[in-house]
Amino acid sequence: MNHPSCAKAVLLVLLATLLGQSIPVSVRAEPANAPPRESVEATCNRAAFRVVVDVGHTLEVPGARSARGATEYEFNLALAKLIEQGLIETGFGKTVLLITGGRSRPGLAQRVARANNASADLFLSIHHDSVPDRLLEKWEFEGEERGFSDRFHGHSIFVSIDNPDFKGSLRFARLLGQQLKERGLRYTPHYTDKIMGLRQRQLVDADAGVYRYDQLIVLRNTQMPAVLLEAGSIINRDEELVMGTPERRSLISAAATAAVERFCAARQPRTPAQVARPNVLPPPRPSLLPNATKQSAAAAKPR
Ligand SMILES: [Zn+2]
Repeated sequence: MNHPSCAKAVLLVLLATLLGQSIPVSVRAEPANAPPRESVEATCNRAAFRVVVDVGHTLEVPGARSARGATEYEFNLALAKLIEQGLIETGFGKTVLLITGGRSRPGLAQRVARANNASADLFLSIHHDSVPDRLLEKWEFEGEERGFSDRFHGHSIFVSIDNPDFKGSLRFARLLGQQLKERGLRYTPHYTDKIMGLRQRQLVDADAGVYRYDQLIVLRNTQMPAVLLEAGSIINRDEELVMGTPERRSLISAAATAAVERFCAARQPRTPAQVARPNVLPPPRPSLLPNATKQSAAAAKPR
């Protein structure tokens, strides 16, 4: 410990004595009543660990159209429900399926608020991919002209460096990518391609297929580790059919559940960790500031 802070602590204690009040100052690394190390590092408490499974888009504004004209929302809802079911069956009883309605923008804020209010430990947003409009080709399906692109296929995973727990987000994203890979699924590398224009992304894990997408509201404004999964391309005519099968959905659900199990086991449980923290208030972090302040702080950050 350095001298200035030691002197400051002595001064505070003196001041507290003079005022007849107790000030929570600790000059020790851990308070005397800290639990033993083993309990701090206890493994996953599934019953207490809350995952929010977010269904991307809404019934009213349903996201992308598939090559055969189905909505992305239908695909998102079916897969997210299966992931929720898989998690609950594995003991994650606090899992929440997050469905919002109405317009996109207020819906995004609503998702974030609900996840933050639920004190979720992990946020997983489920989507299905399309392509920029300029890459669409035309074909006819059941008498209707539809857009498609068979150019890309595969899933992709996104995280935001502006999430207050970027490290946690990246850790879960990697686990999810590895679990999908172990089940024989291949991510799509096309987000690094110049052809994607404004939708080009930085690949941060070339093994697990994790990209950075810093601006996504559901990834940056959530107060817990947050990951977005584009489960597959529904604008690709072959992959759309595969993505609609119970087999593929079960495979992705199993991968998500296995990734959550590993993530939960690797996390320090929140409550004992908070008890073990020294009794000194840390400086305020941007993650603890109101969203408006946080956003302007993030905007000012050089990239
Ligand atoms: Zn989407």
